[in-house]
Amino acid sequence: MHKEINLTIKPEYIKTYQNGYPLISQESIVDWNRVTGEGTIVDLLDHRKKFIAKGYYGRQNKGYGWVLSSKKDEEININYFIKKIKAAIKYRESFYKNENTTAFRVFNGEGDSIGGLTIDYFDGFYLITWYSIGIYTFKNDILDALKSTVEYKGIYQKKRFDVKGQYLDDTDDFICGKKAPEPLIVKENGANFAIYLDDGAMVGVFLDQRDVRKTIRDKYAKGKTVLNTFSYTGAFSVFAALGGSTKTTSVDLANRSRAKTQEQFSINNIEAQDIIVEDVFNYFKYAVRKKLSFDMVVLDPPSFARSKKHTFSASKDYVNLLKEAIQITNKGGIIVASTNASNFDMKKFKDFIAKAFKELNGEYRIEETFALPKDFRVNDIFREGNYLKVVFIRKIG
Ligand code: SAH
Repeated sequence: MHKEINLTIKPEYIKTYQNGYPLISQESIVDWNRVTGEGTIVDLLDHRKKFIAKGYYGRQNKGYGWVLSSKKDEEININYFIKKIKAAIKYRESFYKNENTTAFRVFNGEGDSIGGLTIDYFDGFYLITWYSIGIYTFKNDILDALKSTVEYKGIYQKKRFDVKGQYLDDTDDFICGKKAPEPLIVKENGANFAIYLDDGAMVGVFLDQRDVRKTIRDKYAKGKTVLNTFSYTGAFSVFAALGGSTKTTSVDLANRSRAKTQEQFSINNIEAQDIIVEDVFNYFKYAVRKKLSFDMVVLDPPSFARSKKHTFSASKDYVNLLKEAIQITNKGGIIVASTNASNFDMKKFKDFIAKAFKELNGEYRIEETFALPKDFRVNDIFREGNYLKVVFIRKIG
């Protein structure tokens, strides 16, 4: 059983929670010091003790917990989780039916009413990600709810919280069912991806870029030279190559990226492409020196990264990154600028683009923009949950 306590909301935050804002912050609560264990159910009341919302305490980088219900009598038990998972699955019905895409997100945190929890589907295997110890304390109920709702080949998990000093009864990523083959081959719009469910934090592909990859393949790649920076397993290069690009060059700092990218090419029957293991910022300098230029440059940096020579923070350094890219993009070419930074919005991102071109006296046109795809359902009241921003920019002059 989870402990349940009452907390009092500060007057100026009552409206926020009444409107359905899902993230619980420490500063919005009068008596937060009464909260002890992660996973505690907190009933948020106004100063007249009127019930406003119910949530759980789970510390994440984002906040201190998430609202789970606006109903006073709602019990947070297996039935609650079954109800939420069923609704989430119903919302993705078309994904389950689509044979050309066998990897998608089934449950997207607060977008599906439970912040701190995501569930992804990889061709019959489910991957649960726990973002706090608090949500992890509900593991048994959530797992039982999932098992009783879906047919599965196997279930895996990732813990996105600090496990140091925690007593955990399980340390494996594999939970139950059959183990997945390594790699597990999934499909995305007809292309193949090699997935490793039990090999560290990242499984091989970021599902939220699905629509962007398809757009590159179907509308922009044919006959073009493509530079894919921060390329990881080369997913954008694979789609560019499948779309008929004349050549792709993938650049990533991590040693593992070479073999992983080669593997993605080979399972898609794509002939050898350039894969460069190097700091992107060095590569830009090299490209300028060698007078290399490309018809398409993909920029997909992490929101924050530290390499030996550089610290990159999207909110501070994206303008400079764009300027580097603009200089090696052919006139008429496309820059695909992407960021998953949640500390600035699309408007600000477009400001970065305007600034970069202005400082180089360049001209551009925005061709199209992307946010999260449908399966990454977002909560309308929690705009920062829609973190993905992708802009297709045409360099005109
Ligand atoms: N674009 C990829 C995902 C990028 S994840 C995709 O579509 O799948 C971010 C990647 O950036 C990681 O693989 C990391 O190794 C790489 N990275 C971080 N800093 C870098 C740098 N300075 N130069 C090159 N790669 C970098």
